[in-house]
Amino acid sequence: MSSTQDIILLGPPGAGKGTQASRLASRLGVPHISTGDLFRQNLREQTPVGLMAKGFMDRGLLVPDEVVCDMVRDRLELEDASSGSLLDGFPRTIPQAQALEGMLRRLGRRVDRVLFFDAQDATLVERIAGRLTCSACSAAFHTTFAPPKVAGVCDKCGKAGLAVRSDDAEAAVRARLAEYRSKTQPLLAHYTEAGCLRVINAEQAIATVESALATALAAN
Ligand code: ADP
Ligand code: ADP
Ligand code: ZN
Repeated sequence: MSSTQDIILLGPPGAGKGTQASRLASRLGVPHISTGDLFRQNLREQTPVGLMAKGFMDRGLLVPDEVVCDMVRDRLELEDASSGSLLDGFPRTIPQAQALEGMLRRLGRRVDRVLFFDAQDATLVERIAGRLTCSACSAAFHTTFAPPKVAGVCDKCGKAGLAVRSDDAEAAVRARLAEYRSKTQPLLAHYTEAGCLRVINAEQAIATVESALATALAAN
């Protein structure tokens, strides 16, 4: 196995990708790169990328491929990603997957594994409906399934900034699920054909999903 590893977490909104990503990334010694988090950070800083992404995000639509790909290309060039990356929420379309393959090829790398978070719509809706997100560090909590130790306060960074994401309102969630089905689902066949897809049962409890991910990464 090569010393760098580039791993993708693929799956519908609310499947639990972000929840698993930060711990998995530190275990692997690679940065957790979440395009949703990068857009929200750009928006907080009122950058041109953040302002242009906002209109799409609010409506639950995917941001245009070129904008996302430019942002990821810049991120992969940072020093901490020289050891690999854990990509969360990217790629989400076939053109993004093709662009990523080009970016990695130029670095002498490739997509090593794609971990698909498989969960039913009812589970996704239930998870998104109770999701609380830290506005400072983007960590996700859940009113029932993963409550913070102190109400409203982030366990991870200690800030009192837990809030419901504006795109977790019902209309935007419906649009995100539709975008997922029409544009992201085709990636399953793409990565199955490439031989790197592994299916994770994301319906299970957080700790069980965590060990399933470790098993999928250890196996050939
Ligand atoms: P979730 O975790 O619920 O799937 P994300 O935080 O990953 O949501 O994404 C929030 C929004 O950011 C998306 O609805 C979309 O507007 C935008 N976004 C994030 N990643 C991408 C991407 N790879 N391509 C296009 N848009 C994206
Ligand atoms: P994604 O990044 O795929 O959109 P998140 O990691 O933000 O998903 O998780 C969505 C919501 O579901 C959050 O409120 C999170 O606390 C909760 N959650 C994540 N994984 C699980 C799980 N295995 N069981 C129950 N709730 C979960
Ligand atoms: Zn936080």
